[in-house]
Amino acid sequence: MPRPISATVSVSALAHNLATVRRHLDQTAAAAAGLPPSIWAVIKANAYGHGIEQAVAGFSKAQGLAMLDLEEAVRCREAGWGGPILLLEGFFNPSDLDIVDRYHLSSTVHHRDQLDMLARARLSRRVDIMLKLNSGMNRLGFSPAAYPAAYERAALLQQQGTLGSVGKMTHFACADGPQGVNEQLSVFNSVTHKLPGAISVCNSAAALRFADIAVGSESQTHWVRPGICLYGASPFADADASSFGLKPAMSLSSEIIAVQEIKAGDSVGYGALFRAERAMRLGIVACGYADGYPRHATTGTPVVVAGIRTQLLGRVSMDMLVVDLGPVPSAGVGSPVSLWGEDGPSVDEVASAAGTIGYELLCALAPRVPVTRDA
Ligand SMILES: *Cc1c(COP(=O)(O)O)cnc(C)c1O
Repeated sequence: MPRPISATVSVSALAHNLATVRRHLDQTAAAAAGLPPSIWAVIKANAYGHGIEQAVAGFSKAQGLAMLDLEEAVRCREAGWGGPILLLEGFFNPSDLDIVDRYHLSSTVHHRDQLDMLARARLSRRVDIMLKLNSGMNRLGFSPAAYPAAYERAALLQQQGTLGSVGKMTHFACADGPQGVNEQLSVFNSVTHKLPGAISVCNSAAALRFADIAVGSESQTHWVRPGICLYGASPFADADASSFGLKPAMSLSSEIIAVQEIKAGDSVGYGALFRAERAMRLGIVACGYADGYPRHATTGTPVVVAGIRTQLLGRVSMDMLVVDLGPVPSAGVGSPVSLWGEDGPSVDEVASAAGTIGYELLCALAPRVPVTRDA
């Protein structure tokens, strides 16, 4: 028997989440009497831990897929994806352009070196690009001062037959928080409004909270780039994914592999971090930080055992964690444990108890955990 831990990825939950975001964007566009944006489903980092092939199946109705890794882009093509693929960091060296060309990938262009590489490349077809503006996040993109010249250069490469479409893109730093997007959006608009091309500005948080800024018109196509919400987790600290009608796509489950009875004063686990105030029954779960469960999760982190919500006790070990079986007296060795997902706490609840965000837990699912694909 293998160790009982496994992760299940629901392809229908992925499809449901895409449809939910689609509906929200369509309704916003209809209310504004404009055109809804197209969706690049973001599937970087092995589709946020869910697996590229599962994502290609679940997001078959997306207009495009976006990721960073050329190898992941090739896997999408091999899994049968024929639509647009956008590389969110672009290409890194001239030989990457052979792969861009062969697999018909679109690229973000955020740096002058990338324009130089394109100018020197010998390609069999035109490359569609999104020219990225640094509107204030100060991570990737041309500065507002440098952007017009970069755009002009891209337009020249277009005239020369190297580039296909040239779109305009930026990324928001605070779409999930009180600061919002206004400041960066006004920088983006003032730099790009006279330049033709499609627009892409929204991640999950902006697509859910500020969908009106992605409403297009006959003359202006928009693309949104949602990631986390498509996996059924929330980009917001103050709103659950379920409040948007999203369903968790990854469920991490295991089993109780041992039971301990302890008395008042006894401690649990490394560092004796938890000390019992009364007699307790403990369940030892086959799941630890080497599986991707966060070591910083504290006593009190929700865990569901045999359908009943209980809590983590003490420090998470490499391969095991300990739960209180007080609320589940019928549980014993072999009882099912849900760490997060469909029948468990949300990944965001667990993340919050560990001082992090759902994104990190999903992406950090360890390779040793077998992944089962559910319809
Ligand atoms: C990761 C990423 C996204 C998706 O972000 P979410 O918060 O997961 O929706 C969108 N755009 C870019 C450029 C990204 O790197």
